[in-house]
This record gives sequence, C-alpha cells and structure tokens, in this order.
Amino acid sequence: MRRPLVMGNWKMNGSHAANAQWLEGFRIPEAAVVDVAIAAPAPYLAVLSERFQRAGIALAAQDVSDQLANGAFTGQCSGAMLKDVGCEYAIVGHSERREYQAESDALVAAKTKAALAAGVTPVVCVGETLTEREQEQTFAVVARQLAAVIEAVEDVSEIVVAYEPVWAIGTGKTATPEQAQAVHAAIREQLGSAGSRVSVLYGGSVKSANADELFKQPDIDGALVGGAALDSVEFSKICESAISHLA
Ligand code: PEP
Repeated sequence: MRRPLVMGNWKMNGSHAANAQWLEGFRIPEAAVVDVAIAAPAPYLAVLSERFQRAGIALAAQDVSDQLANGAFTGQCSGAMLKDVGCEYAIVGHSERREYQAESDALVAAKTKAALAAGVTPVVCVGETLTEREQEQTFAVVARQLAAVIEAVEDVSEIVVAYEPVWAIGTGKTATPEQAQAVHAAIREQLGSAGSRVSVLYGGSVKSANADELFKQPDIDGALVGGAALDSVEFSKICESAISHLA
C-alpha cells in the first residue's frame, strides 16, 4: 500500500553551517509512520546521509541523469551514484528543470527509468502553468506528462507522483484542496491498477497553515515542500500535520 511522504526540496539553498542549524531545529515524533525526506543540493548529499539517518530523514536528490553507465556526461550524477551515497529518492521533472533546462517529457521519462534501474525511487513532478489552467488544459497537460512516464517504465507502482501546479510554486498561491484533489483523483485513475499503490504528493506553497486541509483530501498522500522546508521548525509542523491526517 502507498505510504504517506513529506519531502522537502531545498533547491539551490544551504551550506555546511546552515544545514547543521536546520538539523538542530528539526523534530518529529519517533514512531512516525509518515516517511520524511529532504532533497538536498548534490554537494551535500554524502555528508548529510548519516546525519539524516540519525534524524529519521530519508535522503533525496533533486535530479538524476538519464544515463545508466558511467562516462563522459559532465555535471551529471547517475542513479547508481545517488544510491551509493544513500539516496532513497530523486526528484524528476521538477517544473524548474522543465523550464530552465528545457527538460522534455521524454527526458523526464528516461530519468524516471534510470532512477528505478538504480533502486532510487523517482518522485515525478507534473503540473500545469497558469496559462494552461486558464485555458482549461490542466487535466490534459498532467495526463500527457504522466503518460510519457507510464509508457516508459515497467512497473509504475514503484514511482511517486508529485502534482505541482507551476503557478503555485514559490508564489504563495496554493491550489484549493478541492482543485488539488480533483487532479490527484485523475492521476490515480490514469495509473490504473497501480494507482492504489502510488503515493501522490501535492506541491505548491504548502506550509503549516494550509497543510491540514490538503492532507484531509482522500487522494493527497503527502507533500513536496519548497520554501517552507528551509525552516526546519515549520517543516516539522508540516510533518506533524501529515502524521495526524495521513498515518
Ligand atoms: C517545489 O519547489 O517543489 C515547491 C513546491 O516549492 P514551494 O513549496 O516553495 O511552492
């Protein structure tokens, strides 16, 4: 069965000092039945691996190469390398990479496959822009992005999906719980028989003040949290909210 998951995405933020300070403020109940993960910048993954383990946090990467074998791919990290330093998860197809690195649906699907091949769980991000929502393209866009992944992988029950409306990322605008639920239900339906086993996270300006209402929705299994994950006290509160609604 699907497990609730709250994943923080630190994006390009952090330093040795700031990361240590973050850990000081992070507190969740010991017997948490919600998985908690942090996607840290690549240079800090290895050093955070053990510290996160002690704090009950799973390690995640913010990206993964689509290439399976080592070789001349400057700047890239393979799934095997991520696994080697302790990553359980890798974010794939975040809207910032789709936009700034022009990642296509096909590349996102290839990265998803590469992560799975290395034993790293891909957290596949899908979501529409504001223009697409205004043009009532939300369901079509999300279905197209997800279809590329479903077609590429052998067992789709091994992925995590994050629905992140692009217009809600870092803007302070959250999709209403009902808007999010409608898209999550469509995602689960598209996943077919695997749908009941796939965790579908919501992402887009999640904070402790709106987490409860989102986590009450039947098809929201957790959150991908950007800005609010930079403050470990605030992030702990979101995790607590997930524990009370999703556990
Ligand atoms: C994200 O980057 O995945 C995200 C959801 O960011 P924020 O929570 O800041 O909107």
